[in-house]
Amino acid sequence: MDLTPTLDAIRVFCEERDWRQFHNPKDLTAALSIEVAELMECFLWKKADELTLTIEQNRSNIEAEIADIAIYLFHLVEVLQIDLPAAIDHKLEHNRKKYPIEKSRGNAKKYTDL
Ligand SMILES: [Mg+2]
Repeated sequence: MDLTPTLDAIRVFCEERDWRQFHNPKDLTAALSIEVAELMECFLWKKADELTLTIEQNRSNIEAEIADIAIYLFHLVEVLQIDLPAAIDHKLEHNRKKYPIEKSRGNAKKYTDL
């Protein structure tokens, strides 16, 4: 998955509107959190057996909220000059140690309870 054209489009969208001036880590983090809450609202009060139908009926809205989350996350990564693939690799390596396969496969326990 090459995200370069997508990241360029996000950057151009922002530059055309001169919005970079508003992009500081505090506000981008708040915006990211708000968008996550909007995604959560799509599922609010739904029972487990209602989720499949909820997703089918609200797919476009769910996709839009996920896109909002990704856009703010990419802005935050850019402002903080984070090498996202390297950060993910590093975090996965850390998680492999916290969640060894032999203890965590097939269960959802937190690493402190393994
Ligand atoms: Mg939104």
